Amino acid sequence: MNWNLLSISDLSREEIDSILVTARKDFLELSRRDIKKVPTLRGRTIIDLFFEKSTRTSTSFELAGKRLSADVINVKADSSAVGKGESLKDTVLTLNAYRPDILVVRHPHVGAPAFMARYTQAHVVNAGDGKGEHPTQCLLDIFSLKQTYGELDGLKVAIVGDILHSRVARSNIAGFRKMGMQVRLIAPPALLPRGVESLGAEVSHTLDDLKKVDVIYLLRMQKERHEGANYLPSLREYISHYCVGRRHVRPDQRVLHPGPINRGVEIESELADADGNMILQQVEAGLAVRMAVLYRIIIDNAATAGSEVRNIQAVG
Ligand code: ASP
Repeated sequence: MNWNLLSISDLSREEIDSILVTARKDFLELSRRDIKKVPTLRGRTIIDLFFEKSTRTSTSFELAGKRLSADVINVKADSSAVGKGESLKDTVLTLNAYRPDILVVRHPHVGAPAFMARYTQAHVVNAGDGKGEHPTQCLLDIFSLKQTYGELDGLKVAIVGDILHSRVARSNIAGFRKMGMQVRLIAPPALLPRGVESLGAEVSHTLDDLKKVDVIYLLRMQKERHEGANYLPSLREYISHYCVGRRHVRPDQRVLHPGPINRGVEIESELADADGNMILQQVEAGLAVRMAVLYRIIIDNAATAGSEVRNIQAVG
């Protein structure tokens, strides 16, 4: 794997496949054991730097590093010197002085992880930058789909909802297409980016088109990025046209959502609790995939640098 993981475009299809094989063979099953720890990254240091709210991504990156036996430090912006006005550059220069191996960064501004990568020797993993990208979400979604469907070539997916403000959509459109899937976007015109045609996806504005796909990928309304603008006449109207319920989903279709879900906005509560959805499977996949990403970043780059890395073997 490349030095940093900033965008899903940093990875070839072969690299994605190879990371996901590592996740499946080495790490998925590990989480189901009583002892969930391997000594693989003992002595390595990972700093998780979250400037934005997170539950799944921050928990799974922290657990991933700990289960690999790395020293994991979590820095939350509201409890760090960032809250005292420290600049991003000074924060990264400071943390870099501790010589971490990996910096995992979530930030509300597009490009912040790439900016930080200029000032650290650590490998930088983008854990979500504004409406930019969320490459590890994309990897875990591809992983979940492979677990269910096997090969993904020709699989048809509809991504539904607030595509304009979604970093998950941006990474997943590119990642799903890279894996040979056919992508359709379903959203009101105001929640689609300008130049959407250039993304290589079919575009429509009605849930009727859900019948044309195998997989339904729902997105949260990203209110925090609407910045006071009215993208919709009203939330109630959006819900009446775009909230997906059980009646929209055939038994053979699978439903994904990156979380957090907003019940009654993009997904009806009954569908959120239904057996056919893959939401918790995605959460479980997130841990195995993030372990694989941390592991592969260290071992692939250590192999290039000629330094020693332990093999994967259970502790004790
Ligand atoms: N958890 C995802 C993200 O951080 C999706 C969301 O927040 O709606 O982008």
